[in-house]
Formats: sequence, C-alpha cells, structure tokens
Amino acid sequence: MSATTRPPMVLAESVHKRFGRLEVLQGVSLTVQPGEVTCIIGPSGSGKSTFLRCVNHLEQIDAGRLSVDGELVGYRQQGDKLYELREGEVARKRADIGMVFQHFNLFGHMTALQNVCEAPVQVKGVGRRQAREHGAALLERVGLGDKLGAYPSQLSGGQQQRVAIARALAMRPKLMLFDEPTSALDPELVGDVLKVMRELAEEGMTMLVVTHEMGFAREVADTVVFMDGGTIVEAGTPAQLLANPREPRTRDFLSKVL
Ligand code: ADP
Ligand code: MG
Repeated sequence: MSATTRPPMVLAESVHKRFGRLEVLQGVSLTVQPGEVTCIIGPSGSGKSTFLRCVNHLEQIDAGRLSVDGELVGYRQQGDKLYELREGEVARKRADIGMVFQHFNLFGHMTALQNVCEAPVQVKGVGRRQAREHGAALLERVGLGDKLGAYPSQLSGGQQQRVAIARALAMRPKLMLFDEPTSALDPELVGDVLKVMRELAEEGMTMLVVTHEMGFAREVADTVVFMDGGTIVEAGTPAQLLANPREPRTRDFLSKVL
C-alpha cells in the first residue's frame, strides 16, 4: 500500500450555480470515490445536466468548491492564491474526462473509426496508426467490430451511442460522465448501451450517470442521488434510496417512475 490516499474523483462542496436570477444549483455536495458509480436521478429541470457540465468545465460555478481528482475545477492553486485556468489548461483537464450526451453528437461526415480516433490524434497527439488500433479495439469492445467503416447515418441510435462511448474512452479518461445516455433511444436499443456501461463499471471505471433507468441504478450504482430543485434531497445505496426512501419528495418521484 502506498502511504498517500487517493483524493475523491469528484468532490463537490456546497456548489452554487445561477443563470441570471435563476439559481439552478443551490448548494450541491457530493463525493464520488475512484472506481465508484454514482447515479443521479430527479425530475426535469432539477439541475442534473448543469451539475455534470460544471464537473466537465463547461460551466463555471458561482460559489462553493468543486474538484476532480484532487484539483479544483477551473482554477490553479498556488500557495493560498487561486488563478483562473487558461483555455489550453482547461482543454487539457477536460481531456481526462469523458462525456456522453443524450444526443450522440457524432461527426456525421466521419466513419465510426474516424470519430473514435479524432480526439486522440488532434488533442493528445497520438500517432494515427496507434489511434486506429486502439479505436478498433474499443469499437470491438462495444460490440461494433463490424462497423468501423460505417457512417453515423448508417447506424441505429443504440449503435451511434456505443460509438460515442468508444470515442470518449479513446481518450483514456479517469472519469466518465453520462447525461441520460439512453433517453433518446428506442426501447429495444437501450439494453445494448446499458450493457456496455455495466461492463465499464465492472472494469472499475469511475462513473457519474444521470439516468431514468432505475434498473441500471439499482444494479450498477454504488450510490444513488436524488436531485430536486437544485439540491440533493437524498443520497444512499440503491437499496436504501430506491427501496426505502426517507424523504417524501423522493418517494413521490419514485412512485412516478418505478
Ligand atoms: P436537468 O438536467 O435536471 O433537467 P438542467 O440542469 O438542464 O436540468 O436545467 C436546470 C435549470 O437551469 C432549468 O430551469 C434550465 O432551464 C436552466 N438552464 C440550464 N442551462 C441554462 C442556461 N445556459 N441558461 C439559462 N438557464 C439554463
Ligand atoms: Mg438534463
């Protein structure tokens, strides 16, 4: 054992975020340890996507503290002074975090393999041959070994989403964020995507997942967090939170989705 303990992968302490007069995050505190899967559930408009976007440097928080793998998001600490990160530094930090969206956002003019190889080559300077080998292995792993040359328009939604997951993994992220990755899919395509996510969790990936898939949350999550109105109403193990919620608001939400 090394003497140093690893910092939490995500540590949010009373995070606030407002858009104009609308306070979207009203003091969110949350810890995700390395290797853990945390699922965030909650009604539309409760701030789930905004929170993920803050973790991924896409939004700046207004108050509180937010760090990823022990480093403050958006700032560099030197002594007791904080400096805002420059664009290039932000880009470098974001390269360590994979994000998968509801709408897959693949490049339409590129094949599956080109989509997966693009960022490692452009952002990380990985050699093309090495990127192609890794990319092909990742597409194989998400069940698309026979679709390397297919364009997004030739793939189903579920296949496109699995390309998007492979594309995120190609950057060898230490944290994966998923924002309702199966919400835009036809029901019969959801299972293949959840299977890939489940395997990723079993391999030890740290994951923060916004989802309405309660079965996935129950079986895969270490922690389930219920958000409503910009705050975390309740958090616990799936058994606690899903089967035995304490808060009336959680019970009310679950009665509608379970
Ligand atoms: P959720 O993902 O839980 O549905 P969001 O984080 O997307 O919730 O949104 C929370 C609230 O913040 C909503 O009321 C939404 O309209 C508002 N919001 C989100 N992004 C912006 C933005 N860029 N500008 C203004 N309001 C926003
Ligand atoms: Mg959302």
